[in-house]
Formats: sequence, structure tokens, C-alpha cells
Amino acid sequence: MTQVIGGMGALGSVLAEVATKQGATLRLNSPVASITKTDDSVSGVTLASGEAISAKLVISSADPRTTFRDLLGYQQMEVGMARRVEHYRSRSGTAKLHLALSALPQFAGLTDRQLAERLVITPSMDGMERALNPMKYNEISTQHTFDISIPSVADASLAPTDQHVLTAIVHYVPYAPDLGWEAARPQLLAQLLAELEAYAPGIGSLVTASELIVPSDLEASHGMTGGNWNHGELSIDQALMMRPFPGSTQYATAVDGLYLCGAGAHPGGGLQGLPGRNAAKEILKRGALS
Ligand SMILES: Cc1cc2nc3c(=O)[nH]c(=O)nc-3n(C[C@H](O)[C@H](O)[C@H](O)COP(=O)(O)OP(=O)(O)OC[C@H]3O[C@@H](n4cnc5c(N)ncnc54)[C@H](O)[C@@H]3O)c2cc1C
Repeated sequence: MTQVIGGMGALGSVLAEVATKQGATLRLNSPVASITKTDDSVSGVTLASGEAISAKLVISSADPRTTFRDLLGYQQMEVGMARRVEHYRSRSGTAKLHLALSALPQFAGLTDRQLAERLVITPSMDGMERALNPMKYNEISTQHTFDISIPSVADASLAPTDQHVLTAIVHYVPYAPDLGWEAARPQLLAQLLAELEAYAPGIGSLVTASELIVPSDLEASHGMTGGNWNHGELSIDQALMMRPFPGSTQYATAVDGLYLCGAGAHPGGGLQGLPGRNAAKEILKRGALS
């Protein structure tokens, strides 16, 4: 498994350092309140502080809904485009489970060395179908798919000596459970630990701390509409040359000077950098900077 030593935050720090050396100015903790448009093209941004910054191009890595609906505003686009933004699907059914463990858990049939790999635990195809149903009806499922990493196996700096951290992507989680997240969160956590126990007997007794991040948490903390870290479903009508939606594909949008460079553009999310690289190439190809 490819892993960033020092944790994912280390990747951000390196990228920031490289960008600064190349002459970029990074402004942290400076949320953009709106993208400004003058006549037919964008003309800059206004920060939440009220500061206005003029720019020939605005290249957004916020998700498409945030970019078009919240920052640009529907009054700045044609009705057909506003409708597409409104119909763009970005509700997530995926949570993230973090466990601090007092020792390395034992997964039946796996050696300690194999625990450095990505472990996918999923029900059968029929089981997946059944697991999905409660999610559709805003309930907690009794079966989940886990995509587990124990990064401390390869990077001891992530936990105290002989202790470990486990992180799992968990599928089939309702975006808005009928119970409300205050009651549903402990229920889901207990359910997930019970499911893990079947594969890693005794894991529950190793847990010294836990964190369950549900889609609405990500929506609140990172401004990802629907809590979707792909910035929108990667289903066929929202993928490839149709991402995020017709009329605003291939990084250039229907609004002159406004580009997308994040996971809402092709090929979607993950720490791969491809939407940004492709957006940069498209901007250079169009000579949009000159
Ligand atoms: C808990 C978690 C773990 C993950 N682990 C992995 C992993 O191990 N490997 C992997 O490949 N992927 C992982 N992912 C997915 C990956 O993080 C995302 O797909 C990826 O970060 C998307 O990158 P992005 O730059 O397009 O968007 P983001 O990372 O979402 O960046 C968009 C940025 O825009 C900012 N923003 C939004 N609105 C505004 C505004 N109005 N003004 C200013 N800034 C704004 C946000 O704060 C955010 O910093 C993980 C995601 C999560 C949530």
C-alpha cells in the first residue's frame, strides 16, 4: 500500500512549501464569501472578511454546488445551468471510522505484515443489496463495507510505541438518519465495532479512543456539499466528460473565467491531483492567463 509518511497532513505541508517556493501566495483561514462577476465574466472574489480581490480567472476547488450556488449565485447564470447545479447529486453514504488501539489487532487469517495492506471487508453481493436498503430509508444498516488501513504498521510515528491507529472508510451510512445523528452516532459506532469483532476478535477491548465522522460532519467542517469527498457522486451521468454536468465540463465552466480544479471535475476525488493538473493544462492551452 502506498502511504504518506507522517500522515496525510504531511502531503499538504509539502505541497504548500513547493507552491510558495514557486511564487504562490497562500492565504489560509480566508474563506471566500462570493465570486464576483462583471458583465459576462468573473472578475475576482470577495472574502468573508469583506476584502475584495480582483482576478482575471477564478479557479475553484470547492465542490460544484458550493462554487456555483453559494459563491457565484444562481442570479449570475442561465436558468438551465442553475437547474443542472440543483440536480447534481452529492449526498454521501460514506463515513470514516478512526480507532486508537492499545495493540495491533489480530485479523483472522492475516499475518501482522499483511495488516500494512488495505483490508476490504464486504458482504456478499446479496448482502450489499440488503445493506444498502436501510441507508435508503434513513436507517442504520446491520452490514457495512469496510475499507481499512492501519497506517501505524508502516509509520510508527502515528501512535505511541506498540500502539496503533486504524482508519476505515465505511459504506452504507444514511446521510440524515431519522433518529438524528446525536442518537444514531453511538448506535452506528457500536454496530461497526460489533461487525469488526467478527473479523478481528478482541478488537473492541483494544480501543482506547474512537471517532466516527459522518457525512454531515464533513459538510460542516470542509464545506463539501452532502459531505461527499468526491464533491459529487461518481455515477455514470456525472463522470468522465460529463463531470460535473454538461455545459461546465473539462474544467472550463459556462461562466467565462471560472474554472473547476477539484474533485467535482474529472476524474474525481482522492489525493491524486489530477483534476488540478488537468485544469492547469486546460487553462494554459486556452491561453486564458495571457
Ligand atoms: C477523512 C477522509 C480521509 C480520506 N482519506 C483519503 C485517502 O487516504 N486517500 C485518498 O486518496 N483520498 C482520501 N480522501 C478523499 C480526499 O481527501 C478527497 O477526495 C480530496 O481531498 C479532494 O480534493 P480537492 O482538493 O478536490 O477538495 P478538498 O480537499 O475538499 O479541498 C477543497 C478545499 O476548498 C475549501 N473551501 C470550500 N469552500 C471554500 C470557501 N468558500 N472559501 C475558501 N475555501 C473553501 C475547503 O475548505 C477545502 O480545503 C479522504 C477524505 C476524507 C474526508
